[in-house]
Amino acid sequence: MTSTAEPVAAAERIAAACRVLGRLGLTREPAGHISMLLADGTVAIKARGPSESGLRFAGAEDVVVVDPDGTPRSSAPGLEPPRELAIHLAVYRARPDVTSVVHVHPLMPVLFGICDVPLLPVIGAYDPYALRLLDRGVPTFERSVLVTTPELGDEMAAVLGPGAVCLMRGHGVTAVGTSPEEAALNAIKLSELAELNYRARLLGEPRPIGKAEYEEIVGTGRTRPELIDSAWRFYRRLAEDGTEEG
Ligand SMILES: [Zn+2]
Repeated sequence: MTSTAEPVAAAERIAAACRVLGRLGLTREPAGHISMLLADGTVAIKARGPSESGLRFAGAEDVVVVDPDGTPRSSAPGLEPPRELAIHLAVYRARPDVTSVVHVHPLMPVLFGICDVPLLPVIGAYDPYALRLLDRGVPTFERSVLVTTPELGDEMAAVLGPGAVCLMRGHGVTAVGTSPEEAALNAIKLSELAELNYRARLLGEPRPIGKAEYEEIVGTGRTRPELIDSAWRFYRRLAEDGTEEG
C-alpha cells in the first residue's frame, strides 16, 4: 500500500465500518465517527457537517484527514472534522497499540452507563469474543459532556486504560482496535453484551457462567484473526444488502 493510496483505502474502510454500525442501529441520526491512524501519523476520520448523511449512508467522500494536533489536511464542501475529534487524538497519544477508534451513541450500552448496573459474564460459547472483550474491562468515563478538548480526551483515554471499550455516562461509547473492522466489531460486541444483560435482567436474575469455564474461554487468548475476518464479512454483506431498505 503506497502512502498516496493509503488515505483512499483508509477512507473506504472507515466508510464501510460506518455503514455497518449505522445498519445495526448503533448510533442515532448522524452522530458518531470512526477514525484510522495512517502511516505518516495523520488521522483519517469520518467528517461531520451539513453535507453528511450519517454513518448509515457514509461513503469514502465523507472522510477527511487531520494532523495529529487536529489541523485539517484535507477538506470537502460542507464537511469538517467532528467536534469530538479530541477522543480519537487522545487515544492515539495514549495507546501506541491502537490504530483505529470508534465513537458512537448506542442505546443499550448507554443504559448500563446510566444505571451503574455491571455487565456480567453471562455468556460462554454463545460468543467467546464478547466474553474476552468483557474480561478486558468495561470502565465508565463519568463525564457526560462532548469531549472537545485535549484535556477531556486525555481524561477519557486514561479511563479506557489498556482496554478495548469504554462507556461514557449519558453519552455513548468509545471502542478501539488495530483496524476499523476490529474497533467496530468491539463496539458491536459491547452492544450485544449490553442487550443480553438487559434482557436477562428483564427475565430474571442473570447468573454469570462458571468460573472454570470462564477461565477456559478467556484463557485461550485473543480471537483468531480469521474469525474476526469472517464475522466482518458477514456484517459487510448485511450492511450492503440493506442499502435500499433505508
Ligand atoms: Zn459523542
